[in-house]
Order: sequence, then C-alpha cells, then structure tokens
Amino acid sequence: MKKYSFIIDVAKCENCNNCFLSCKDEHCGNDWPGYSKSQPLHGQRWMNIETRERGAFPQIDVAYLAKPCQHCDDAPCIRAGQGAVVKRPDGIVLIDQELAKGRQNLVAACPYGAIWWNEELQVPQKCTFCAHLLDDGWRQPRCVQACPTGALSVLHMTDEELAEVVRTEGLETIDSEGPATKQRCYYKNLHRFTSAAIFGSIATTINGVTECVAGATVRLQDPNRMIAEQETDDFGDFKFDRLPPGRSEVYELEVVFQKRVAAKVQILKDAPLALGTIWI
Ligand code: SF4
Ligand code: SF4
Repeated sequence: MKKYSFIIDVAKCENCNNCFLSCKDEHCGNDWPGYSKSQPLHGQRWMNIETRERGAFPQIDVAYLAKPCQHCDDAPCIRAGQGAVVKRPDGIVLIDQELAKGRQNLVAACPYGAIWWNEELQVPQKCTFCAHLLDDGWRQPRCVQACPTGALSVLHMTDEELAEVVRTEGLETIDSEGPATKQRCYYKNLHRFTSAAIFGSIATTINGVTECVAGATVRLQDPNRMIAEQETDDFGDFKFDRLPPGRSEVYELEVVFQKRVAAKVQILKDAPLALGTIWI
C-alpha cells in the first residue's frame, strides 16, 4: 500500500510563508466535510515555521523549520482520541470534527504542538495533508504546491520504499530522541536547526592595513580528539557545523598559517560560539 509522507529540506526554506498562506487560503472559510471544518483566520498555524539563529552578528546563520502535523504512525493523538482521531490506510491522520467536538484535551496530546483549538467551533484542528484534494486526484497538498524553493515535497510510496529513501538520503525526524511516535514527516539538513556551530574569522595587519587571512588551517579539537579541520575562505572565515548542541567539554581551536601555529583559542563550556575575529 502506498502512503504519503512529507519531505522537508531545512536548508532550502527561506521563511517566505507561502506554505502557511496557501494553507490559510485552502482552509479559512472553507468546510471540507469529512476532512476538516474551517480554520480560523488567526491563531492557528497548521503549517508552523520555527526559526533558529546560530552565532552572533556578523557571524550568524538562520534556519527555518517548516512544521506541519507529522502524521505519526504511532500517534499519541490517536490514542487520546479514542476513536475521534483516525489514521487512514494512506498514512494521513485526521481529526473527526464531529466526534472530537468539545475535546480540548486533544491539543495537549500532540508532543509537537500540531493540534490547535478552535474556540468558536469548539473543536481541535490540524493539518489534514489536504486529504480532500488528494482524494480528488491532486498529487500534493497546497503548501507543497506553493513552495517556491523546493523545500517541501511529498512522497507517495510503500513503507519499504520510503525506508530506502530515508537511508540513502540520510533523512531524519524531529525529536528523534523524544517519544517514538514514528513520524511520517522527514527532514533533510535538520542539523541546520538542531546542531551547534562555531563561527570565526582570521585576520592580520600588513603595513598597517587589515587583511583577511585566506587559506589558514583551522583545527577544532576537544581534550580527547581532533574533531575537524578546515581552511579559511577568501574572507578569512571558517565555520564548524554539526556539533552537539549541549557540550560538556572545552573546545580548543588551533590556527596554522604558513606552516606555524599562529593562534590557539580555548572555547569554554558556556562561551559564545561566534568567536569574532582572531588576529594572527
Ligand atoms: Fe498526532 Fe501530533 Fe503526530 Fe500529528 S504530529 S499525528 S497531531 S501526535
Ligand atoms: Fe519555507 Fe517553502 Fe514554506 Fe516558503 S513555502 S516558508 S520556502 S517551506
């Protein structure tokens, strides 16, 4: 049986909010009987976009995490719903808008904050994967159709085929350390949102003029091992990514230029990871 999954590339999301707006366009003021009641204009974000900044100006990057309902295969909302939340054979999770009436407790049942309370209609609501459109022959929901960067896509395949894609493309789910809910929403480049990064720049002074040091070797190590090594770019910049977010060790940075150790920097446990300019 083929099932639907979201594939979301964090590195391609530019926070344009087209996905959020197209969801509003599809669901605000529109009842889709058997699927969803009208979404309120304000207060609900069926496609929510979270923001994470790393570093500090001017050494900074920003990542955006588009986050719909994860359409979990082992969904806590289904257990809490006691018949009011169903998993379709194609993988999509729907809240029955009649059976769930008055069930505000379902909002707290989702560990990912994907269920919203409609105060006016007294019903919990969430992303439906635009199941009303898919059942009508569409190949993808409105948010995916509206995404201009290719950050959002949909797979429609068997679980075995999906497992192979997840393996070969290194896809991850959010909160992989958290409850094992078997999400059907997979992410590429999730490290942009979840990992730590060290930013810095190497500069020197030649005849009284500040110059960027391109091609310097920068080594990152902790007390036990070398972690990574890279060369500064034409602007003298370096960035070590995919570091664990909660570190317990002190890092040491060594800068080698023209075959000599030109600088050593200790980065203490709670120190900022945007190092600014290191002068050599
Ligand atoms: Fe249910 Fe939340 Fe999983 Fe969606 S993300 S299926 S609302 S538990
Ligand atoms: Fe990101 Fe695509 Fe949504 Fe724009 S439409 S915010 S690029 S996921």
